[in-house]
Amino acid sequence: MNIWAYTGGSGILGGNVMTPRAANAGAVSQREESTMTISSLSTTPDSDNLKCCPKCGRQLSVGAFSKDKSTRDGLNAYCRECRAVISRVYHGANHHKIMAQRREYRKNNRGILAEKARQYTEKNYQSYSEYQRKYRTSEAGKAAYASARHARRARMSNASGSFTAADIEAIRKAQGNRCYLCGKSLKSGYHVDHFIPLSKGGTNDPGNLRLACPKCNLSKGSKHPTELGRLL
Ligand SMILES: [Zn+2]
Ligand SMILES: [Zn+2]
Repeated sequence: MNIWAYTGGSGILGGNVMTPRAANAGAVSQREESTMTISSLSTTPDSDNLKCCPKCGRQLSVGAFSKDKSTRDGLNAYCRECRAVISRVYHGANHHKIMAQRREYRKNNRGILAEKARQYTEKNYQSYSEYQRKYRTSEAGKAAYASARHARRARMSNASGSFTAADIEAIRKAQGNRCYLCGKSLKSGYHVDHFIPLSKGGTNDPGNLRLACPKCNLSKGSKHPTELGRLL
């Protein structure tokens, strides 16, 4: 028996939603019945080219549905508008999921992450120190350092003013034996700092001298006091 000839005869291909029972099909088997029910449902975009979106419940023209090859009618089950909402909700939910996963990872791997950060700092610090060392020992670097030393000596001898050991002692007492930049004790040593650097027109007069701990003196370099910003 050719069941397709039969379904054709029952009017299914004409687009009517007709169950075998309604078509008075009597002896049709269970399998044939289900096949025919599906084929009648698959005609959802009906003759008026309308399709119902199960989410918003609207009867919309098929143009309101995006194409989807995986479905029987080649259209997405939900209308474009509902599809957009679903997709936004999905991505929104995923966003929170991803953030939660990251938080969880950071929480569970604090040790590893801290170690990684430490290694990164160390690696970069080492490569920087290495770069500095290489430069200092290179011919160009040696020349640059020698030139800077010479220029500084020249400035020192050319700068007006002079100071004595007694002047320095007086300054040390006036500063309370503390670094004028960070306030650390100068007991373990100090550098004589030109408040206005010689390179910026400062003098060797005691009034332009300050005592700084070695660390501050080295970090100040030849910055003008106004360039030191929050250090002062
Ligand atoms: Zn919809
Ligand atoms: Zn200091």
